[in-house]
Amino acid sequence: MATSLKGTDVVVVGLGAAGGVAVLPLVQAGLEVVGLEAGTWLTRRDFAPDELRNNYRGWPQAVQKANHEIPTSRANTSSPAGPRLTIHPMQNAVGGTTLHYWAQSWRLNPWDFALVSRTRRRYGASRIPKGSTVEDWPFGYDELEPYYDKIEYEIGVSGHAGNVNGTIDARGNRFEGPRTRGYPMPPLRGTDFLEKMATAARSFGWHPFPGPAAINTRPYQNRSACMYHGFCNRGGCHVDAKNSTMVTTIPRAQATGRLNLVTRAHVTTLEVDNNGLMTGVNYVTDGTEYFQPAKVVLIAGYTYENVRMLLLSKSKAFPNGLSNNHGQVGRHYFSHHGQAGVTALFPWNTNSWYGLPAQGIAVDNWADDNFDHSGLDFIGGGNLWVYSDRRPIGAAGMSTFDRAPAWGSAWKAFVKDNADRTNSAYIQKTTLPYEDNYLDLDPVAKDPLGSPVIRITAEFKENERNIAAFTQDKMEEWYRGAGAIAVQRAPLGGAMGVSTHAYGGTRMGDNAETNVVDRWGFSHEVPNLGVLGASTMGTSGAHNPTLTVQALAWRTAEHLTKNWKNRRS
Ligand SMILES: Cc1cc2nc3c(=O)[nH]c(=O)nc-3n(C[C@H](O)[C@H](O)[C@H](O)COP(=O)(O)OP(=O)(O)OC[C@H]3O[C@@H](n4cnc5c(N)ncnc54)[C@H](O)[C@@H]3O)c2cc1C
Ligand code: SF4
Repeated sequence: MATSLKGTDVVVVGLGAAGGVAVLPLVQAGLEVVGLEAGTWLTRRDFAPDELRNNYRGWPQAVQKANHEIPTSRANTSSPAGPRLTIHPMQNAVGGTTLHYWAQSWRLNPWDFALVSRTRRRYGASRIPKGSTVEDWPFGYDELEPYYDKIEYEIGVSGHAGNVNGTIDARGNRFEGPRTRGYPMPPLRGTDFLEKMATAARSFGWHPFPGPAAINTRPYQNRSACMYHGFCNRGGCHVDAKNSTMVTTIPRAQATGRLNLVTRAHVTTLEVDNNGLMTGVNYVTDGTEYFQPAKVVLIAGYTYENVRMLLLSKSKAFPNGLSNNHGQVGRHYFSHHGQAGVTALFPWNTNSWYGLPAQGIAVDNWADDNFDHSGLDFIGGGNLWVYSDRRPIGAAGMSTFDRAPAWGSAWKAFVKDNADRTNSAYIQKTTLPYEDNYLDLDPVAKDPLGSPVIRITAEFKENERNIAAFTQDKMEEWYRGAGAIAVQRAPLGGAMGVSTHAYGGTRMGDNAETNVVDRWGFSHEVPNLGVLGASTMGTSGAHNPTLTVQALAWRTAEHLTKNWKNRRS
């Protein structure tokens, strides 16, 4: 029998990128908030530059909830399940995955919000890929712009603006939507290698620029600037220069005295009354069960866990899972197409032994709708990203480009000579939702509490694979222009496995028949239930999701505070 605790105004489930941001506007408006976080607080000592632990063993050691509930995956209903990951990429700790993410902090392009209408207008309705369930967002870039700006200053983002109020600056991204002001900090510094790449891009008439990062390039909010020593690719920052919510919004929310942050609180199910309104959440700490009553519940446990919590919370009002009377929970799922990379070998050292993955050069000429697709066989595009980051174990796994065997002394000699002469581009591509790509509960695999884990049934379709082939051509051209002597391409992409950029499952939209949450992030079916995270996003664009996730989280929380007196609960 669960112990029932004292009620609160708002419960936030999961204090990561999204939940860790949302708590701040809530408490600033005077609401009492309980933050239930499955993980614990980590300290700088947990952020040692240890490639073996960070990149190859599950960490942190304290709580590894995610590692016990790794989704299963299969490409489609007739294909067998793929191999299950041994380590979940996401984090269980206060601050969530912002502790060890790469911290690239991109805004979406205005086209990403209105992909359907703008594609129809420019190329005709037939260009929306067959079988895709993509919809325009219920609002445009302009509506999210003030929240992007808010987050860039609240957490601290470094970068060079390319479009301030319509004035284009060639040092930044000329394709970005107009912003009201520049970044609070200048971009991370370049390297000789990145400068070579930028020069090659310019020689083609492309527009290279340094990417934005939630990493300090000067002391900001009394925290250190980045020292470029690296190892924070899947590791935390031991000088607090990476702007995780653990060091930014969460402590500021705690300082108000209105955030009660409970760690080791694993939320299992969400409760409603007979009228179908939220009453609170159930959680388990070290085997003991609690019920936390609340007037409003916001879930922010990342895409897979958001969907799982809803599907596991069955009641008389919601026999198929909470907020699922229209059968939309788990639908419109997709993961960002970041496979199909390109790797190059150069005849000179790149000096990438220190540096970090957010320290790089981007080209957006082939992203979104920044180029004419009339004669092409896809819509959307990719962000070409070349960065400075190398660690010993990863480097030893380098390709030999068919110039040496993959073992023995000849292999060792090749790696010794070439480990710093290779570079792999990260190409994120527009990915769309499709009718037959979805999440549900696995019929067999269970977590240690006996609850089913998520099952992914999804694969990249023709549009995504065609973007991949096109952007690989561009990337090869770029590498060769900078002097690469060999280039290799990864396969164009098949099954969508577990992803760090997982979208949909609780999509946002005005139509309750095809979306789980409304334009503010609140359930169409349960008005005092909000959902935070990329599970609400209907398109991915060609850039990482987290800044958008955080802007949406602030907007949802602010909407709640402004409408607190009129809420239904
Ligand atoms: C290695 C890596 C690099 C990345 N790099 C980038 C990047 O450069 N740029 C970018 O934009 N994105 C990046 N991402 C993705 C980014 O981390 C996610 O978009 C973001 O963290 C998602 O935010 P979230 O709040 O939904 O999830 P998280 O940040 O993972 O937070 C979820 C929180 O909920 C908690 N939780 C989960 N289930 C429960 C439960 N049942 N009860 C209580 N608490 C629960 C978790 O412990 C966690 O703290 C990267 C991810 C990884 C793994
Ligand atoms: S490279 Fe920068 S962000 Fe990464 S650990 Fe070092 S100081 Fe922190």
